[in-house]
Amino acid sequence: MKSQTKVNLRVAGPTPLPPAVLKAESQQVISHRVPQYETLQKRIIANLRPFFGTKKYEIFLLTSSGTGGLEAAIVNCLSPKDKVLAVTCGVFGDRFAQIATAFGAQVIKVEFPLGQPANPQVVAQKLKENFDIQAILLTHNETSTAVTNNLESLVSEIRKVSKGNPPLILVDAISSLGAVKLKVDQLALDIVVTASQKAWMAPPGIAMISVSKKAWEKINRAKMPCFYWDFKKAKKYADKNQTPWTPAVSALFGLDSALKAMIKEGPTRVFKRHQEIGAYTRRGLKSLGLKLFANEKFASNTITAFRVPPGFEAKKWQEILAQKYGLILSGGQGPLKGKILRLAHMGYVLKKDIDQALEALRKSLKDQKIK
Ligand SMILES: *Cc1c(COP(=O)(O)O)cnc(C)c1O
Repeated sequence: MKSQTKVNLRVAGPTPLPPAVLKAESQQVISHRVPQYETLQKRIIANLRPFFGTKKYEIFLLTSSGTGGLEAAIVNCLSPKDKVLAVTCGVFGDRFAQIATAFGAQVIKVEFPLGQPANPQVVAQKLKENFDIQAILLTHNETSTAVTNNLESLVSEIRKVSKGNPPLILVDAISSLGAVKLKVDQLALDIVVTASQKAWMAPPGIAMISVSKKAWEKINRAKMPCFYWDFKKAKKYADKNQTPWTPAVSALFGLDSALKAMIKEGPTRVFKRHQEIGAYTRRGLKSLGLKLFANEKFASNTITAFRVPPGFEAKKWQEILAQKYGLILSGGQGPLKGKILRLAHMGYVLKKDIDQALEALRKSLKDQKIK
């Protein structure tokens, strides 16, 4: 057998698992209808709270990827024909809008240029022109362009123009939560979605989702078809620390282990570490002469996108990085396919992983085969 290069998995998710998480997820499975499971679920929810920044709202565990969490948000909160404002600056903002459209919402899109954040004043203006908007869809961290939106200013502008009848605010925080500070209670965000395989150092399979008190008024009246995702059922079971359907127990073992480590480190330090590794990655890439894609004022601390230099073939570059150096990067999506590569630095990532990635990029930049 050929000797294997150590893999440096730096894609936008799944992200690598620490040894303790690997061990935890390989335990024998348990029944999800016994006290042992209830203790597990209760502890996971309690440990998620400081990262969500919520003491008050329900947090549900859904067995699905992040997209399932976004669909759950839509179908639980909305009725067909509801007017929805979808704020998008990339592929994932577009996806949230597509889900709403698929279930019959009347979607108004506000789009911002790729690499740029959403402009709060423009969003507020759209809202002013459409007083009957029922919900606003926001992306916290647009993983496809490596831009982090300023949720505080977005929410503050939204509230300013919608005093009497504020729309629900539904947030895709799939690739930011657990790494970037977010104050769900303070911003009164109605729905916030994240997923285990991004910044949480956990295996894929679990979407975690918070639900505000105000969201429940809508949930109780919402008419979109929904069965598996039904929050009313989820609540009934969450009250006894269970889920309505069989959860991905092994993934939950992994998530539980990861959360214990995150709590031990403390949210403030986890957030600071991501800030530092984000800045370190951007500096390193620039020092190789690579051009960052996102507006640097809004650069994400969980992922960095850089342009493929002129004359270079993105796909070939990715292949060489993988085969020769064990470095696995994400490519560009949609209109950015072939134009950028993306290097994730969320969850279980050390400076030496970034150094190794930068070294691989440095060496490969000299490789003529990429041209
Ligand atoms: C990864 C990601 C998704 C999709 O999550 P899946 O788990 O692949 O379904 C959605 N939104 C954002 C911002 C993401 O980073």
